[in-house]
Amino acid sequence: MRAGIISDIHSNLPALEKVLEDIDARGADEIFCLGDIVGYGANPQECLALVREKCTKVVAGNHDLGVVGKADLSRFSTSARIAAEWTADVLDFDERKYLAELPLKIEDGDMCLVHASPREPARWEYLNFISMLPGQFASFNGKNCFVGHSHKPLIWNDFGEKIIPDNRATFQLEEGTRYFVNAGSIGQPRDGDPRTGYVLFDDVSSELTFVRLDYDIKKASDAVEKAGLPEKLASRLYRGF
Ligand code: ZN
Repeated sequence: MRAGIISDIHSNLPALEKVLEDIDARGADEIFCLGDIVGYGANPQECLALVREKCTKVVAGNHDLGVVGKADLSRFSTSARIAAEWTADVLDFDERKYLAELPLKIEDGDMCLVHASPREPARWEYLNFISMLPGQFASFNGKNCFVGHSHKPLIWNDFGEKIIPDNRATFQLEEGTRYFVNAGSIGQPRDGDPRTGYVLFDDVSSELTFVRLDYDIKKASDAVEKAGLPEKLASRLYRGF
């Protein structure tokens, strides 16, 4: 099976469309979404509709739950909170219900999907530092756990080695080693590269491919401004952090 693994879309429709086109062109069998479908950006309804249509597995992110009152907005930055409140007003009842009912973690065979971390998914921890790893590998059963949340593509193995993938780099996951794989962010990358990104995973060859793609940043940024959302959320898309 080849899966496109997408995360942190954040209501960025031009970026999501670009990624879905690319996944389709590569002929992936399934698409999994690691949450934060909404928040920050200007097209929550369109992004939600595409995720519901295309993704076979979806977990909840803190922004998805913040919008429906199931995650604490007082822990959000001011601009994130403003965007979450704006999003809650835009979504209809059925869309809010879909977000509210998303699971926090999905375990399926050798694969775990969770937005932030598997130990206590609703604590929204960032697996950026080795100090965050204790207890995390023991909190899922399979070989690989796919996460998002930090908006930075990253691999950890269970020896505590941190690997930052280069552009379009392909990684061979090794037999007998377990991994955390951060899929990066479709809609608001924060690794200094403003291009949209996702991960392709082949569970037969155990190969991971980190894909980055140019997309129409201006269209996404202009839509944020036009929606009356904080200016910072429009300008940061050009910078990629
Ligand atoms: Zn996010």
